[in-house]
Amino acid sequence: MERSTIVRVHEGLHARPATRFVKLAKGFESDVELIKDGKAVSAKSSVKLMLLAVKENQEVTVRANGADAIEALEALIGYLENPRAGLDDEAEAQSPANDAGQEAAPAPGSVPAAPGGANRLRGVAASEGFAIGPAFAHFPPDIAGQGRMLRAEEIKGEIDRFRTAVGAVQARMDHALAQDSLSAGDRGIVAALRDIAADDSLTGEAEGLIKGGNDAVSAVITAASTIAAEFSAVDDHYLNARADDVHAVGRQICLVLLGQDDVSLENIPEGAILIADDIGAWDLARAPLKRIGGVVCGHGGATSHIAIIARSHGIPAVLGLGDQVNALRTARDVALDGNAGHVIIDPDEATRADFAGRVEAAAKERAGLTVFKTVTPKLADGRIIEVAANIGSLEEIEAAQEAGAMGIGLFRTELLFMRHMHLPSEDMQAETYAALAKAFAPYPVIVRTLDIGGDKPIAGIEFPDEENPFLGWRGIRMCLDRPDIFKRQLRALLRAAVHGNIKVMLPMVSDLSEVRQTRVLVDECTAELKAEGVPHASFDLGVMIETPAAVLIAPALAKEVAFFSIGTNDLTQYIMAADRLNPTVAKLNDVTNPAVMSAIEMTAKAGVAAGIMVGMCGEAAGRPDLIATFVKMGLTELSMSPASIQRAKKAIMAMAAEG
Ligand code: PEP
Ligand code: MG
Repeated sequence: MERSTIVRVHEGLHARPATRFVKLAKGFESDVELIKDGKAVSAKSSVKLMLLAVKENQEVTVRANGADAIEALEALIGYLENPRAGLDDEAEAQSPANDAGQEAAPAPGSVPAAPGGANRLRGVAASEGFAIGPAFAHFPPDIAGQGRMLRAEEIKGEIDRFRTAVGAVQARMDHALAQDSLSAGDRGIVAALRDIAADDSLTGEAEGLIKGGNDAVSAVITAASTIAAEFSAVDDHYLNARADDVHAVGRQICLVLLGQDDVSLENIPEGAILIADDIGAWDLARAPLKRIGGVVCGHGGATSHIAIIARSHGIPAVLGLGDQVNALRTARDVALDGNAGHVIIDPDEATRADFAGRVEAAAKERAGLTVFKTVTPKLADGRIIEVAANIGSLEEIEAAQEAGAMGIGLFRTELLFMRHMHLPSEDMQAETYAALAKAFAPYPVIVRTLDIGGDKPIAGIEFPDEENPFLGWRGIRMCLDRPDIFKRQLRALLRAAVHGNIKVMLPMVSDLSEVRQTRVLVDECTAELKAEGVPHASFDLGVMIETPAAVLIAPALAKEVAFFSIGTNDLTQYIMAADRLNPTVAKLNDVTNPAVMSAIEMTAKAGVAAGIMVGMCGEAAGRPDLIATFVKMGLTELSMSPASIQRAKKAIMAMAAEG
């Protein structure tokens, strides 16, 4: 008995929707198959189902054979036709292997030995702060099987051993999932791995190999490689990334089989610097983060999963060292500077003393700053300066709140788009923005519309090859050319505005028409939501001032928008014509250059004259040495990384005290 339908599950049967579909199918006695393009797979295996790569709007057939076939068809077809079945939460979206593709860290070169003979390496400054401590090298050895064929009488025992190991891995993952301490993000990671460990594709393949005479470890390695290769071959970024998940689960099973399960981060000594080529999601989820003094990794970059976790737990981190990380395998002690992205191997006495001093001073400063968490900085004339946070994911909310953020001055939505195999849905975006609005209400949450260009490709948008991507099709330019993507985001923002104080700002604005066209789209979205009876509310629309053109037309822009937020990172590169990523022109990339400062002043003047709020969300907003200047220019909102908030509040209070 079979029935065909068009799949409406949002984003198709990717990881979690496939697992839920399998769970549903397993509830029926009947044999159930899903057929796409003539290929039939068991509907009771989530790996096989994922490999079928069923996308939204594709036609499939469900075939059921058995006593409850009618009920099975009814339930499974109902599931496939339900768009909401595909809605993952943010946590699930961060599957363990997802971080790998997020940020291609630049391949940094070593710099000459530092004074005193210490060996200094340079990577990506991924989480600020200083640390010095014993090195804890985490380079799990490659696993190899016995490489001999089993005798016939050994096979049954080997299968039992294998099944026990699989059970142990599943139990451990279940145990981890039951811990309250697991964050939503980490829970999603472990749940995705648990699904693979519980699926008979991997275990069935491995058992087949053991029956053929292979030892269990060799069988698991081969089975994992076979299934991972299938995931790699599918024409879909998200499913390609599942290959790493399969290897991760296979590795866990092998470690149990080899009795080497103690290769974990659980034993990391207090204050140690964790050194790894890459830190697996499973290891990370179990790591005692409070004990880790710092993190150094060959892989990763500023937006990778490990960087986000390190920042939100206040752990200094230098990532993206590439092969240089191998030089740290035998290090005894390591000093790291998470602000500059430096790592020093076995520092000499002078360097040790220097770092110990910096760590102590930083701890002292942090302790002294905590009183500013609840302070509302006010100037002598009574004006309140809002000190807000720049974040890019929901995981960072806690760090921002802990620091005392008075709302969010910049929510970078790029990560939301880069983490998914397809463009994020309106529902998923609306839920994310609503969660932010609720977390900070009544303070404002300023969401920046998608600011992406050819230098950071995302699934679902074709970017042309460009000679100068920073001057090309990015930010508001791309959004206005792709109203399908832009309207989805604007609708989600209008819906989220019901839940708090959402404001929206446009990146890379260089012409008034961009604001006007956006307003037309916002009006269209509002009318659509009204007609559909979907709850929504209006929001203030502002612009980032980050191009010289925006500065020069600031008086006209100020008449059309509710606020300005100065993006000094881009404004500096465009005013100075100095690529912000090019170290050879780093000297010119200086916000304090009179050209840039006068652009900021012109912007502030235009905003103040028009009576709109002028804020800043570029890195300069968090610089205590510049804050007084900006405030005197008329800025009333400064948004920065959570780690800078208390220091900034202190600087404003000091300024107020001086009158
Ligand atoms: C800026 O340009 O200053 C800014 C805040 O935006 P981003 O760094 O994301 O380009
Ligand atoms: Mg910018």
